[in-house]
Amino acid sequence: MINIIICGAPGSGKGTQSDLIVDKFKFKHLSTGDLLRAEIEADTELGKEANSYISKGQLVPDEMILNILANAIDSINGKYNGLILDGYPRTLSQAEALEELFAKRGKEVDILIDIHVEQNELIDRLLKRGETSGRSDDNLETITKRLDVYHKKTKPVSDFYKKRDKYVLINGIGKVETIHGEIAEVIKKIEAERAYAK
Ligand code: AMP
Repeated sequence: MINIIICGAPGSGKGTQSDLIVDKFKFKHLSTGDLLRAEIEADTELGKEANSYISKGQLVPDEMILNILANAIDSINGKYNGLILDGYPRTLSQAEALEELFAKRGKEVDILIDIHVEQNELIDRLLKRGETSGRSDDNLETITKRLDVYHKKTKPVSDFYKKRDKYVLINGIGKVETIHGEIAEVIKKIEAERAYAK
């Protein structure tokens, strides 16, 4: 199984690109944001607590998210060719926790795909999404906070994987299909390497 991290600021198109990878390569998509929103929707205690952070644009505490992620990984059933992690890891300590969680399960991160989009474009996209998403965090104040958190806390995750030679940068401005094509090439290359190594 190929394990990919899809990384990028809020609004960079991670969700859209993940859906396209799922369709093309039969990967499982795990988005920690989606998992948290499902808890909020179901009005669970965890959901209520998570929403108090999410609505302010803050990250939820590491322990909370790690449990949810581990459970989600352990309950994947069905045959998939790979896993796309979207929205995790968001901090250096989460990257370290992920390495440990994967090591315990005999898994490894193959690549971090970093989708880059300029700040002004991100704000425009998120405000537009906010008109229909119903998300408590798609408003200007929270967007600004989320982008700030991304730059301060999530950027170091890229360096973590760069150092391990598991990093690729993708330009996230342009046609969805063109960006998808570039990501698909990255995945095909890993698949080819796997096939060669067998
Ligand atoms: P997203 O859908 O990935 O933009 O996530 C929405 C919000 O959920 C974030 O702004 C955080 O408050 C929370 N969240 C999602 N993933 C994580 C994570 N890995 N660590 C902490 N908070 C997270």
